[in-house]
Amino acid sequence: MRIIPPPARGVIPGCPVPTPSVPYAMPVAVRFAPSPTGRLHVGNIRLALINWLFARQQGGTVQLRLDDTDTERSEERFADAIRTDLRWLGLDWDREDRQSDRLARYAEAAEQLRRIERLYPCYETPEELGLKRKAALAQGRPPIYDRTALRTDATGRDKLEAQGRHPHWRFKLAQGAIVWNDLVRGPVRFEAADLSDPVLVREDGRPLYSLSSVVDDGDFGISHVIRGEDHVANTAVQVQLWQALEMPVPTFAHLPLLTDAGGQGLSKRLGSLSVASLRDDEGLEALAINSLLARLGTADPIEPVAHLNALVPGFSFDRISRSPAKFDREDLRRLNARVLHSLSHDAVTDRLATLDLQALDAHFWQAVRNNLERFSDVRSWWAVARAPVQPVIEDAALLTVAATLLPAEPWDDGTFGLWTDAVKAATGKKGKVLFRPIRLALTAQEHGPELKRLLPLIGRDRVVARLHGQTA
Ligand code: GLU
Repeated sequence: MRIIPPPARGVIPGCPVPTPSVPYAMPVAVRFAPSPTGRLHVGNIRLALINWLFARQQGGTVQLRLDDTDTERSEERFADAIRTDLRWLGLDWDREDRQSDRLARYAEAAEQLRRIERLYPCYETPEELGLKRKAALAQGRPPIYDRTALRTDATGRDKLEAQGRHPHWRFKLAQGAIVWNDLVRGPVRFEAADLSDPVLVREDGRPLYSLSSVVDDGDFGISHVIRGEDHVANTAVQVQLWQALEMPVPTFAHLPLLTDAGGQGLSKRLGSLSVASLRDDEGLEALAINSLLARLGTADPIEPVAHLNALVPGFSFDRISRSPAKFDREDLRRLNARVLHSLSHDAVTDRLATLDLQALDAHFWQAVRNNLERFSDVRSWWAVARAPVQPVIEDAALLTVAATLLPAEPWDDGTFGLWTDAVKAATGKKGKVLFRPIRLALTAQEHGPELKRLLPLIGRDRVVARLHGQTA
């Protein structure tokens, strides 16, 4: 059990700073609660990552909770994809639960709320509610539910039922201020009067998000609810719900949302920002995605890490800014290259084996890794060393001399220097005039891995042929 110090944050004038609602001694337990209605995207996984980093740092636990009470939109293939994506990112979890298994428990909690008269039946149709909203907005009033149903007596309800209407159920908010000390936002205050009584149970009896989420957080001992700031108003009503159900209120951290480099919300392009497309279509490294998302929206430099665990010690809610965090794909691409450049051969041995190419040993990895933007680029450098290359000949005379001066094998990283020194002595050429024709002949490319490392990988026979302009 760890002691979590209270957040050091500025105080909003006039806002009382409440003590955190969860006793500090409560074991740290977090949850990541995606709805299996689509693929995980960068916004989701940033939240998954932050939850994970905090839990691992505090010695706490992570729950993967599938919010699948929306049976029309939830699909098993999405649940599977969520697990696959999280595993690929290295974000493990200690327990998994799904809300569809707990419907009886939510019904019981709803009953508890009915008994204490905090859940009341409402009969308005969506159209009627829409009209009420419009009327309120037209009169310059906030579109808050007017509690008509609370004033409807038993006879009125019987009448509505006789018309074939079935109620949905709203939670009756208690008047007064709702305050909490957010680990990212600092003190937050809502007036209950500014909020609509939320619907917790649908007409068909199914629970809605706030009910199932609060019951789960309570039952599973969630100490910290870490989610996007789009949930701040939900939190306000949920605080009262935990209190009504006599459950401890967790500590909250609401993270600013991600925007694109131009400051626009990411929601429209989420498809292309799914973990699956970053992995499968763009061939990006999990470590690059994690390194970027862990630091996005903080003042800390974005550095590649060699292992996910390296991000754990430096994590702190205090570092997270309240302004939106910009997600720039170019940053991700650059970081991806830097991650690859720092990976040891041991870290990629298994992946190299899956490419099923000969002689992808440690020497090869050392030779090419600094020239990779994506892991799959390994294939093209392998082809330069091992598959036929049609050389580009720029200075045939120089290359002919160079071919005659090639040392006998075995070759190592020192061979290239000895060889080119000899060519320099024989031809008087040096620098670009010497090295460019050699590189073009050996690789048919202007840039690439260091030739001293590449030369032994290409081998003498191919080098001789390429210097003579032959495809080899
Ligand atoms: N399923 C909800 C969502 O994805 C969970 C929100 C929460 O963290 O409470 O928005």
